[in-house]
Amino acid sequence: MLTSVEGRSVIVTGASKGIGKGIARVFASHGAKVLVVARTEADAQAAAAELSESGGTAAAFSGDVTDWDSMQAMAAAAAEQHGGIDVLCANAGIYPQTKVEEMDPSEWDHVMATNLKGSFLSIKACLPHLKNSDGGRIVLTSSITGPVTGYPGWTHYGATKCGQLGFMRTACMEFAKYGITVNAVLPGNIVTEGLSGLGEDYLKTMAASIPLGRLGAVEDIGNAALFLASKEAGYITGQTITVDGGQIIPDSIEALEEA
Ligand code: NAP
Repeated sequence: MLTSVEGRSVIVTGASKGIGKGIARVFASHGAKVLVVARTEADAQAAAAELSESGGTAAAFSGDVTDWDSMQAMAAAAAEQHGGIDVLCANAGIYPQTKVEEMDPSEWDHVMATNLKGSFLSIKACLPHLKNSDGGRIVLTSSITGPVTGYPGWTHYGATKCGQLGFMRTACMEFAKYGITVNAVLPGNIVTEGLSGLGEDYLKTMAASIPLGRLGAVEDIGNAALFLASKEAGYITGQTITVDGGQIIPDSIEALEEA
């Protein structure tokens, strides 16, 4: 049994939908005070209201991870409303799918600004508050795409997801003196609102390529983040946890069929 995160102040960026909403739900259900962050205010408020209706403590903040002023305001809001910041889940990310030949350079910049610079800005803004925590935690949402695998159309995306890990491996050293850990979760294919729209057949084919035989749930990522944020994970820093049902393990389709 892990020491409870009850009463800890947690920020989750990109928490109005998908994986971030799942992370926020897991923390709220374990008694944490959660700040739900997304650009679309109505969506952030709706997600926070859902968490509150289920008995959690949650507030919404309309913020953009690409904007330094906005990230500073986000950190100030969490500190004011929840009495500090103990955990930052830097999760906000986008994944437009465009091959290099067709990609406008502005799309490259936008993906970098959101996924990579956005991680840096949110972490930098929260750092002064995390330093005051008795065990600050930063959990990045990276991906298997980039650090481990590739997929056509995601050169920019994969580069940002690798970049987050490069950032993490030095940031964890810089922040160790404050007792702050920095780790990353690498999700595989997770069922989110966007993915469910691709249809039953597509989801079945994807599930068949995964040893555990199913796509991930957003709570699978939330549970990994919860562990990394726990007191018991205090000696783990600069590390990754892949949460993909074993997807990256088989060396061929034959290997999967053989099993
Ligand atoms: P999603 O369902 O599209 O949700 C993205 C969230 O991020 C929304 O809340 C969105 O709200 C917010 N967001 C986007 N740009 C933002 C910005 N500039 N500032 C603040 N918030 C912003 O995405 P997802 O599939 O859950 O993915 C979340 C993270 O998981 C990403 O980092 C992604 O790379 C990673 N991931 C996902 C999968 C998967 O299978 N889904 C697999 C591996 C990794 P607004 O648009 O209102 O801002």
